Amino acid sequence: MDISRRGFIKLLGAGTACFGLAQLGLDVKPAMAYATSLKTAGAKEVVSICPFCSCGCNIIMYVRDGQFISSEGDPDYPVSEGALCAKGAAFHAMHVSKHRVLKPLYRAPGSDKWEEKDWSFVLDRIAHRVKETRDRDFMLKNDKGLTVNRVESIFQLGTSQMDNEECAVSHQMLRALGVVYFDHQARV
Ligand code: SF4
Repeated sequence: MDISRRGFIKLLGAGTACFGLAQLGLDVKPAMAYATSLKTAGAKEVVSICPFCSCGCNIIMYVRDGQFISSEGDPDYPVSEGALCAKGAAFHAMHVSKHRVLKPLYRAPGSDKWEEKDWSFVLDRIAHRVKETRDRDFMLKNDKGLTVNRVESIFQLGTSQMDNEECAVSHQMLRALGVVYFDHQARV
């Protein structure tokens, strides 16, 4: 019988596992002991796509009692065959990390302390600073008289925590502003 690794685990999770495997002439006791020891035992599998780059590797999300409890590569996905890079492999760890910043943090000029702020405060603040900087520094022409329409005093560094669509929108916004200096930590 040709059965995938995922199918095998699923089969173990089903109530019919023993019956099915016994019919194949296999000793099911070690397999059942292994399956019940898995942290994902009894969890629902939800197949999704890693958002962090355009490779689009499949990721299996394990959900139990409404909680996202683990994730791993999808061995049945033909492109990556279950492999994930460090970003995809850290998907669940990132989700539950105690270091994950859940609220905007603001450090006032001259201060050595971070303060929690709401989104309307930080978005207004960023918008005002970007507008002030662009109004002040926007260049229509360079020193040779060539039209450049750019601003050189703003730089944006993207992050691997931005997905493809966020990167696309961010890139379009920067181009519209005339920003020419930007990069992304997770270029492929
Ligand atoms: S970030 Fe890594 S795991 Fe995610 S799609 Fe790209 S290569 Fe695959």
